[in-house]
Amino acid sequence: MTPEQYFERVPKSVDMNIRSELYSTNEFTFAVAVILSAQATDKKVNEITPALFAAAPTPARMLALGEDGLKSHIRVISFFNNKAKSIMGLAARLMDEDGNNDENYKFPARYHNRDSLMTLPGVGQKTANVIMNVLWGAPNIGVDTHVFRNAHRYGWVGGDANTPEKVEEQLLKKIPKKYHGIVNHVMVLHGRYICKALRPKCADCPVANLCAARDKTV
Ligand code: SF4
Repeated sequence: MTPEQYFERVPKSVDMNIRSELYSTNEFTFAVAVILSAQATDKKVNEITPALFAAAPTPARMLALGEDGLKSHIRVISFFNNKAKSIMGLAARLMDEDGNNDENYKFPARYHNRDSLMTLPGVGQKTANVIMNVLWGAPNIGVDTHVFRNAHRYGWVGGDANTPEKVEEQLLKKIPKKYHGIVNHVMVLHGRYICKALRPKCADCPVANLCAARDKTV
């Protein structure tokens, strides 16, 4: 199955209106949600973020909530201690730099590129890619567990692509440019609900007749 075949058919089977299933209220809370979602499901993160973002929707209010207050909201999320430190660091940096306390918080324009975003506490390559892609429609590929697994399953990346960075690099070469903006969204939703890690639901898959995956179930 070529990337062209996949990206012509699969988007019709997933909801393309939502850009992310993570709950957020503005660009700052989206970044916080992405940080919380590392090694945790969106569903779990979405259970605790409505209360957290009601209490701390901006960097200033996150600082006012304080690290202990933040931890009391995110205690059920994996690695919550480290994530709390990252989020407090992120809030402090953004607060220092522009002091924006608007509930419709937007990142300063200088952060609209991956290298600048990655200078922020808690923002690694995957987080930066997801922020760029979801918030600003940039053609970055956030390689999460679904994208990583299925890029290998479809044979779109080589066996040497053993890190998210290498998978992203090879996918950007393999997949035609016109699809780059939707790669993350389509592969995450298709991977989460249909082309799952265990027992993929091939009977419901729009590319089942083209797919040569070894663990195909039809
Ligand atoms: S046919 Fe099955 S293994 Fe292949 S892409 Fe669809 S869900 Fe995944």
